[in-house]
Amino acid sequence: MEEDIKISIIVPCYNEEDVLSEFYAAVKDVMENRMKLDEYEVFFVNDGSTDATGTLLRGFHEKDIHVQYLSFSRNFGKESAMYAGLLYTKGDYTVIMDADLQHPPEVISDMYREISSGQYDMIATRRKNRKTDTKMRASLSHMFYGFMNRISGINMENDAMDFRMFNQKAKNAILSITEYNRFSKGIFEWIGFRTQWLEIEINDRRAGKSKWSFRGLFAYSLEGCIAFSTLPLSLASIMGCLCCFAGFAMIIAMVVQALATGVEGSGYATIVCMILLMGGIQLFCVGILGQYLAKTYLESKNRPKFLVQETSKEIVMERRAFSSDGTGQNQSYIR
Ligand code: UDP
Ligand code: MG
Repeated sequence: MEEDIKISIIVPCYNEEDVLSEFYAAVKDVMENRMKLDEYEVFFVNDGSTDATGTLLRGFHEKDIHVQYLSFSRNFGKESAMYAGLLYTKGDYTVIMDADLQHPPEVISDMYREISSGQYDMIATRRKNRKTDTKMRASLSHMFYGFMNRISGINMENDAMDFRMFNQKAKNAILSITEYNRFSKGIFEWIGFRTQWLEIEINDRRAGKSKWSFRGLFAYSLEGCIAFSTLPLSLASIMGCLCCFAGFAMIIAMVVQALATGVEGSGYATIVCMILLMGGIQLFCVGILGQYLAKTYLESKNRPKFLVQETSKEIVMERRAFSSDGTGQNQSYIR
């Protein structure tokens, strides 16, 4: 059965009990009635949900051989969930989509048509509308991607989404990037390959709440900047040069003034201002260094990206060897 799967649909879910049944029914309908396809699997990655998500998934799996699931030991984040999904599925084509029905399941049939033509390795989607986002989130996101594209050297689209279909080549390329601090939007662009873009209408979340807080989005954006650019590190050198230049100019100005008019006052205020300015710049630069150091520290610890609590599907050996230390032994975690 495993060998025959044409499409694997990976669905990261975190506390999605309100929407999961509707999602499952909608995807099943598209696969079996619209696409008339039986060789598919829906692979739910339960990202440490604390509600009834795990129980629902077990129920789906018991009734339907097309449903597989994996539960993490705690919440590791959507990035880890997507990575785990890619690792555990073997379909000819792989789809990643959200569980909240914001990504319309019927688009999978368009993706399948495009990718099976053999002209593309990845079918990506960009949203036509941002009506489901608040104005604030939409404009911050626009600013962030503008900034990222300037500093990272890769072109990330503001409206691009994680809702994508990959062939084996593109999927293996993504899996070959094993870093701990993952920023998939960047990774999908970084790997290249022949990509076809589809513009789609995004629905409102059908039930439940978005898992992203302002703080979470900010931390994720920072992750993206650090993962895909080292330019902020150069900022320290640039500011250092500017300060040296300003200091040098001030010395010349003071010497000229002293020669022309004689030394005036104690200069106390100027000194305090300069100390504050220089101290501020130095701390700011040390802070940037600290961010990179922290990420390097986390990478060097080489911790697993997720830990498995329970799964309906044993991972296949070659993938395990491919992704971890190569021993292929009975590991309950994947690096
Ligand atoms: N999700 C996840 N782990 C998390 C947060 C979210 O697996 O820590 C899943 C969530 O269940 C959903 C998808 O990621 O299927 C997108 O999340 P959400 O709808 O909250 O994000 P938004 O659409 O608001 O960007
Ligand atoms: Mg959503």
